[in-house]
Amino acid sequence: MRCPFCGNVDTQVKDSRPAEDHASIRRRRFCAACGGRFTTYERVQLRDLVVIKSNGRREDFDREKLERSVRIAMQKRPIEGERIEQMVSGIVRRLESLGDTDIPSRQIGELVMESLARIDTVAYVRFASVYKNFQAVDDFDRFMAELRPVETHEP
Ligand SMILES: [Zn+2]
Repeated sequence: MRCPFCGNVDTQVKDSRPAEDHASIRRRRFCAACGGRFTTYERVQLRDLVVIKSNGRREDFDREKLERSVRIAMQKRPIEGERIEQMVSGIVRRLESLGDTDIPSRQIGELVMESLARIDTVAYVRFASVYKNFQAVDDFDRFMAELRPVETHEP
């Protein structure tokens, strides 16, 4: 696995353990070249999903992208990383269990909102406020771009 920091391809696995109630394997990796540490997950992928954007463009579903947006909405909220993982996995499983592997981007946004609403109101409102604009622009990429990390001003 290539190091995301320096590009070195020879990284070491320091620790492997089941995560998300044994739905995935979490590996802690270490890069000897730059000292960087990162985590990878190994998961079952039941089906290859394709996102259909409002302009009709198709693009492979990207779990990482979905997870990033959820993490941004959850930023500084008292939610454990593991919980977020579970939530994202739940969303992906639901998407995979739909009849069709082609999924409108809007449907993904709605599933995310539904899940967030159950877990954390603040994160839900944060996500939903951007989602409102998203419905106007109707483009998942722009939506993701608008959902930026909250700026913090430490005293
Ligand atoms: Zn490195």
